[in-house]
Amino acid sequence: MSRVTVIATGGTIASSAAADGVQRPTHGGADLAAGLDVDVVDVMSKDSSQVSPADWDVIGAAARSAVDGGATGVVVTHGTDTLEETALWLDLTYAGAAPLVITGAMRGADAPDADGPANLRDAVAVASEPAARDIGVLVSFAGQVLRPAGLHKVAAGICFAGTVLGSVAGSVTLAQAKTRPFLAELRAASAPRVDIVATYAGGDAVAMDALVAAGARGIVLQALGSGNAPEAVIDAVRRHCRDGVTVAVSTRVVGGGVSPGYGPGRELVDAGAIMLPGLPPSQARVLTMAALAAGLPLRDVVDWVL
Ligand code: ASP
Repeated sequence: MSRVTVIATGGTIASSAAADGVQRPTHGGADLAAGLDVDVVDVMSKDSSQVSPADWDVIGAAARSAVDGGATGVVVTHGTDTLEETALWLDLTYAGAAPLVITGAMRGADAPDADGPANLRDAVAVASEPAARDIGVLVSFAGQVLRPAGLHKVAAGICFAGTVLGSVAGSVTLAQAKTRPFLAELRAASAPRVDIVATYAGGDAVAMDALVAAGARGIVLQALGSGNAPEAVIDAVRRHCRDGVTVAVSTRVVGGGVSPGYGPGRELVDAGAIMLPGLPPSQARVLTMAALAAGLPLRDVVDWVL
């Protein structure tokens, strides 16, 4: 018999507009899951811009404890702003056999066309699906089932772009296989500091130097195009890699990949940076945090995870 636990964390799916017209999370899990035969755990009620790495630990612990208590599937309701980060962290660190499915909504709970109830119903169906066992974390949103790695929030369409693994329309279809990127059970709160540095025409070393001075052990370079950067940034990467800082390269091109196909990208790699094809900067940071927390060279986990 399948038994699903819904872990509520806030987000638009739990929000309604206050008198000032501003959306804030006001609904707990019991409200969201009304009419569904599930167990509910409220762990926080946050706009997901306020969700921190320590909160990833809280959500992961709640999922593990639900499974230990007999849940055969777990659904996390979450804001969409940082859903891509929480989903990837959990996929890297959750070892359970029970499906762990994350969902949210584009419109608040008080909207006449609220999408939260359908998204939650779909996510519960995915979490109850035998074919979803043993493959880790899935994102269920607007009738699609998506892989966490590579997911990014977009303005158009269903709110997220990424690898579509299947669909939910009454029944669940998982058409594409998913490899499981589990690294280890890790604590995000104590992971080394990793920051994102954006570069641009004329960019220099000031931000990267300041972040390393503030304690960053990893830097994600939000590079240009297919993974390029101005010479001053490449020089800074060379200095920091020599000092043992892990530098990962992502791109400011939404949905774009990275490779050392141009001179500056080749120089970044020769300087010691690691290209992370297929991950937006937000997720490149999550992967770098997890690799550092696990004590694994980022270079070694890239092929495994991506
Ligand atoms: N600001 C909201 C959040 O991330 C947006 C959403 O859930 O869609 O919590």
